[in-house]
Amino acid sequence: MRPGACLASVAMAVVLSACTKVPECPESAFDADAMRSEVAYLASEELDGRVPGTEGDAAARALVSERFMCLGLTPLDGLDGFEQPFVDSLGRETANVLGYLPGADAELADDVVVLSAHLDHLGDGLLGANDNASGVSGLMAIAQALTERDEAPARTVLFAAFGSEESGTEGATAFLDELAPEDIVYSVNMDMIGSYASTGTVWALGALDGTPGRRIVETLGQDYPELDVGVGEPSDLSDNEVFCSEGIPYLFFWTEDTECYHAACDTADRIDHDEMIAIARLTGDTTWELANSGEDLRGIVQSDVNVCGVD
Ligand SMILES: [Zn+2]
Repeated sequence: MRPGACLASVAMAVVLSACTKVPECPESAFDADAMRSEVAYLASEELDGRVPGTEGDAAARALVSERFMCLGLTPLDGLDGFEQPFVDSLGRETANVLGYLPGADAELADDVVVLSAHLDHLGDGLLGANDNASGVSGLMAIAQALTERDEAPARTVLFAAFGSEESGTEGATAFLDELAPEDIVYSVNMDMIGSYASTGTVWALGALDGTPGRRIVETLGQDYPELDVGVGEPSDLSDNEVFCSEGIPYLFFWTEDTECYHAACDTADRIDHDEMIAIARLTGDTTWELANSGEDLRGIVQSDVNVCGVD
């Protein structure tokens, strides 16, 4: 976030000091100091949980939009910038933040892998550092890592910070209903990636037996001996549910939080940063493999395979 943008959004000394710690684009993807500052800013008392329709929500969206801009991501056609405005079921005016990295393969570029994390939380003292400032920080780091690779991906990768997840995956629904490209072939979602120590496992939920996502996570997981990666369970607990209900397979990276889920103690000081960064790296590697996979991902979406894993 640029200091100038901070002045324009919320003129508070604490926010300004956070801004000086968060450069427009970190020098490197997965920069530990930058990610720590991002989570602290997104989960600050000033942003009060990024409640949809509030100044805290707008400031958080601005951070993501500015990162997408400095990375040179492409906005979707029909939008003014990276934001897709919508009004949620509680009448709150909010937005998704969306940008993509175009695929380079003539035959696969129309296939889209969506990497997402929800931006909102509950507020009124519930600040949502793990849920889901952690995922948003991971999303920005992965966007940087993928744009900095020497080659473009074969398939298009679309990065999405969804709004109003807590009130019922409303941002993801608005995206799929109103704006989504036709050929989304995989959903990769991060929600709560900052509480690894709570149970000592990161879950790749939805990595159902026989799916490309399962094969990729099991292979890449070996590059991360510091992480115990659980696979296979279905989950309808986050935005990935909206995708699988449309027949789109998903991977949902999540760490359980047995103490502070939707509680006032979900604060930035409790984030397990080293593991959070490792999980974000694994998620980014997985997204890259899906974007370049030689498997017929579009064929899976068009088949009758039950990609939700539940009836
Ligand atoms: Zn969440």
